[in-house]
Amino acid sequence: MNRKKSFASLLKITCVMVCSCIGTQFVWADKTDSESITDTAMGTDCSVRVYGSDRTAKDIMDMLSDIENKYLSWRIEGSDIANINENASENKPVMPSKWTYGYLENVLDLARESSGAFDPTLGRVSQLWNLESDNPYIPSKSELTELLLETGWEKISLGDGEVFLKDGVQIDLGAVGKGIGCDEARKMLEETGADAAVVSVGGSILTYGKKPDGKPWKIGIANPRNEDGESYLGSLTIDGTCSISTSGDYEKYVIEDGVRYHHILDTKTGYPAESGLISVTIVCDDGWLSDGLSTACFVLGYEDSLSLLETYQAEAVFVTEDKEVIVTDGLKDMFTLTDSSYEQVEE
Ligand code: ADP
Ligand code: MG
Repeated sequence: MNRKKSFASLLKITCVMVCSCIGTQFVWADKTDSESITDTAMGTDCSVRVYGSDRTAKDIMDMLSDIENKYLSWRIEGSDIANINENASENKPVMPSKWTYGYLENVLDLARESSGAFDPTLGRVSQLWNLESDNPYIPSKSELTELLLETGWEKISLGDGEVFLKDGVQIDLGAVGKGIGCDEARKMLEETGADAAVVSVGGSILTYGKKPDGKPWKIGIANPRNEDGESYLGSLTIDGTCSISTSGDYEKYVIEDGVRYHHILDTKTGYPAESGLISVTIVCDDGWLSDGLSTACFVLGYEDSLSLLETYQAEAVFVTEDKEVIVTDGLKDMFTLTDSSYEQVEE
C-alpha cells in the first residue's frame, strides 16, 4: 500500500499560533504575565497560553484529558459515551452526566440542521477505515453498505436526561470533541478571571480576550497541499474571544492507486466525502459548533453549506480542490491570503 500520512500537518494551525505568541512574549516579556504549556491531550497536540493568571494553563491541559477520559471517549471504558454505547438500547436508556447530555442535545441539533451530513453515529465506519492508525483499511462497497445500516443520528433519542440507542448504533464525538475542549477552557478562563488566552486542541482554537499588547490574535490556516513548501495559505486576524476550527482532507489520509482516502466521511456512502473541498475553516462563538460545522460543511460542499452557516451565524473559509479560496462576508476583512498558488474568488 502506498501510504502517505501527514502527521506534521496536524500541527500546522497550532504552530503558527504558538509562534506568534512566542513573538509577543519576546516583546512583552517584562510587561505581561503569560504561562504556556504544550502537551498531548484528546489524542492530539495541544497548547495553552494564558495571560494574567498563574495556574490556569496547566489546569486547562489537565481538564482536556479529564473530559476525554470521563465523558467523551468511546475508547475509554467507563466514560459516559463508552457507557452509553455499551449499555443503552431502544428500551433501556442510559443516564449520562448532565454535561454529556447537554452536548448530545447540541450535537443532535447539528445533525438535524445539516440533514445528517454531520452524523455522530459514524464511529464504526471510521473504525473500519482505521485511518488514525498505521494500518488503514480500504473497505469494499458492500462492507460499507452493511455497516451503514447501523448508523444514523435519528437512531439516537434523548429524553429527560436519558439516552436511547437503536440496536448496533454507537456514538462517536470525534468530530466535536476538540471544540468541546475549547468551550470548557473558556468556562475555566471566565471563572478564574484570566486576562487573555489562546488554546489550541488539534484543529480547534479558542482565542480569549485581548492580548496585553493590544494586537489581535493571528491564526494561520494550514496549506492543504504544501508541495510548494508553504505551510500556511493565509491567516485570520481575530479580535477578542472566538472559536476557530479547520477540517481538511490532508489531516489523516492514505493514498492508494492515486486515490486519496481521508477521514471525513460522507454519511450516505461511508466513503470519504468528495464535495470539491479540501479544507474548511469555521469561525463562530462556540467551539463544539465550529468543530462540528467544519466537518459538516466539508461533507456538504460550498453551496450547500451556506444556509447551515446562516442558521448558526457562523463564518467560513472554504478551499476548493482547484485551489480557490472562498471567504464568507463576515470574515473578508479578517482574512489575508499569503500563498500565491491559491486564488481568492468571490462567492
Ligand atoms: P479532526 O478530528 O481531524 O479534527 P474532524 O473534526 O473533521 O477532524 O472530525 C473527523 C472525525 O470525526 C473522524 O475521524 C471521525 O471520527 C468523525 N467523522 C468522520 N466523518 C464524520 C461525519 N460526516 N460526521 C460526524 N463525524 C464524522
Ligand atoms: Mg470537526
